[in-house]
Amino acid sequence: MTTPVNYIEKECKTLLNRMKETLFTMRTYSIRLTANLYSGCVFDCPYCYAPYIHKFNEGATPQEFGTKIFVKENAIEALDKQIRTMKRKKDYVPEYVDLGTITDCYQPIESKYKLTRQVLERFVAHEIPVTILTKSDLVTRDIDLLKALAEQQKAAVGISITMSTSEEKPYKAFLEPKSPSTAKRLEALRQLNAAGIPTFVFVNPVVPFLSATEKNIRELFQEIADTGTSNIFFGVMKLNPLTWSLFRSRLEAFQPELVPSFHDLYFKYGTKELLRAAVPSYEYREELYGMARDIAKEIGTGFSCEGGLYHLWLNDWAECEKGFNYPTGYHFWKAVKDRNGELLDFDGLAQELTQHYPILKPAYLDSLASFWKQDLLFTELNDIERIELDGQLMYRWISA
Ligand code: SF4
Repeated sequence: MTTPVNYIEKECKTLLNRMKETLFTMRTYSIRLTANLYSGCVFDCPYCYAPYIHKFNEGATPQEFGTKIFVKENAIEALDKQIRTMKRKKDYVPEYVDLGTITDCYQPIESKYKLTRQVLERFVAHEIPVTILTKSDLVTRDIDLLKALAEQQKAAVGISITMSTSEEKPYKAFLEPKSPSTAKRLEALRQLNAAGIPTFVFVNPVVPFLSATEKNIRELFQEIADTGTSNIFFGVMKLNPLTWSLFRSRLEAFQPELVPSFHDLYFKYGTKELLRAAVPSYEYREELYGMARDIAKEIGTGFSCEGGLYHLWLNDWAECEKGFNYPTGYHFWKAVKDRNGELLDFDGLAQELTQHYPILKPAYLDSLASFWKQDLLFTELNDIERIELDGQLMYRWISA
């Protein structure tokens, strides 16, 4: 029996949220501002990392993430206030706002509330860059607004697709039970590309034993390339303790014989990425990502991937956000690698980044310097060597 979805309107004090400059943020995210118009997501993917947020929503539990959806009814009012305050600041520079890091801003209820559309209207009026990641073809409803932003290089739209049209059949009910089909998402990509809006695809997460197969990856990459998108960001499922408990309880109903296989892959032979979520071992990921990279190369599309496997990247997917985004671990790594074995010191890195990323402020560079001094910026990278010279920390690239 399907559980009915309960929609609850609630007020928010603010809509825009600025991420803290943690090591994880600096290594992983190309944006700092987020705006989540809903809390909870009816698409209900079993591997979703966002259900933890329901611990902070009164009367909700992580188990209800897909069935109890909070709607920030005064979101636009809160946003208007924040935009006014933000733009009054002397050091204001436009930067990307990510619409939906812990929800999908185009889940079906958006057709009724149109909060995402109203946010985009404000962004067009105030020339604020937007980046979106969604599993819904409802995004095409707003092509007019996204196009207006794209004409100023201020929009990038990502669609998350993890299974090809033929390979989704056996797994959709388990892996993506309520999101639109792959065919609909590919069609949305086609329309976005035809409108000249920069796009990227998150083939993330692929799930071991199910969607992480050569056949699925090959077919899907070809289908993506056929839409005209060449930015593919690839990654395998991660599991933190809460996600594992939610995933596991559904796996027990779907294919119980796989529970020990997942347990061993992640918790017996796996590792933790940047001391956070569990992932399969480095060797497993290098083999899987290497295979996916080779397929992308054959097909002639771009490829970048999760974790510190930067040596496998064929392009930087976040280039489509260029001008208003932040560097990530890939750019720190690339700054060292491009020295071809010569040493890079912190000033060299800071100079390189400020040249390419005009939005970086002194506070960002202070945080970066602090992680550099603690020797944390390149952790888990096998091809970067640390050297200490006269008490100064430097790095150089060595072939892996
Ligand atoms: S679509 Fe995204 S936010 Fe929604 S349940 Fe799936 S992974 Fe979570």
